[in-house]
Amino acid sequence: MTWPPLREELQGVEPYGAPQLDVPVCLNVNENPYAPSAKVVADIATSVAQAASTLNRYPDREFTELREGLAAYLNRSGGAEVEYGITPDQVWAANGSNEVMLQLLQAFGGPGRTAVSFAPTYSMYPEYARDSMTGWVAGRRHEDFSFDLDHAAALIAEHRPSVVLLPSPNNPTGTALPHDVIGTLCDLVGDSGVVVIDEAYAEFRREGTPSALELLGAHRNLVVTRTMSKAFALAGARLGYLAAAAEICDALRLVRLPYHLSAVTQATASAALRHTEELLAGVEVLRGERDRTVEWLRGQGHAVADSDANFCLFGVFDDRHAIWQGLLDRGVLIRETGPAGWLRVSIGTGAEMMAFKDALTETLTHLLKEEHR
Ligand SMILES: *Cc1c(COP(=O)(O)O)cnc(C)c1O
Repeated sequence: MTWPPLREELQGVEPYGAPQLDVPVCLNVNENPYAPSAKVVADIATSVAQAASTLNRYPDREFTELREGLAAYLNRSGGAEVEYGITPDQVWAANGSNEVMLQLLQAFGGPGRTAVSFAPTYSMYPEYARDSMTGWVAGRRHEDFSFDLDHAAALIAEHRPSVVLLPSPNNPTGTALPHDVIGTLCDLVGDSGVVVIDEAYAEFRREGTPSALELLGAHRNLVVTRTMSKAFALAGARLGYLAAAAEICDALRLVRLPYHLSAVTQATASAALRHTEELLAGVEVLRGERDRTVEWLRGQGHAVADSDANFCLFGVFDDRHAIWQGLLDRGVLIRETGPAGWLRVSIGTGAEMMAFKDALTETLTHLLKEEHR
């Protein structure tokens, strides 16, 4: 008998952890490299100070003001031509979209039920399934990471999942799902499940790539999750949210912990939403930097997955760990993740990407020399 007396499925398991190392160039967890400006910091601080004067009371359980702000943001986000018509009761939020997705599994998964995704996919999904005692089935994508709808249809018919989880743009590959795939998945799953499209990177998508928000009106089992951690440059605040049918948002009130969103979090996120334009200003710069990084890597002869996100997946290396280590030795931390032989680099500032390119070139040259010795 091991101690402490863990659940069997947790014994010997390592906790989630991209290494949090103190290195000059951190390009490993898809953070936004642009810190909030002094003006935004001051407004957040004022809002938090106001909230602090009422901290003897529990916060608004329904985070009404924040839901209104998030709905308004989503409705503006499609540009002038697109009308999503999302109402505040169709929005839900929690401490990061990770918590939103755990709540979805607590409400719609559970013992005797199954959640499905298609690899390569986000590494946290199987953990939510485990923690909510939901069965977990991972299908696959095509070799080139595009979505294999025939395979997905067969898997859904076989396992009748109550939750389908798919990032779009995908992490770790970076590419978004086409609308017809999402619509077909919603039809296949039907009223016995929910289809969760995790749009953590939506704001970074390339011109012409649509958002699944457009499909909400047509599919009541569709859930679109978003986060303030990436495009909004607010990872430290822990605020994720979703848009879905009001009935789905209502159902999540059954599993959320009492007052799960602190008054401080609500004040911070609402203040940040008042500065949406400024906080998102970095997105345009990062998209450009992303496209140039993809082009440069391809120019160097590497395979690179198309990216709608603020990172790119490149390869294919016989010994990816040696390259990861070589970059780290040169002060650049990237992520060893995804299919064997691939590496993922988050998009940073121009200077950070320069450091990445130099470190990669040096590492590859160095490894080549070693080989020929
Ligand atoms: C970063 C990321 C998230 C965001 O997580 P938060 O808990 O909101 O910080 C969600 N999904 C995917 C696929 C991600 O890569």
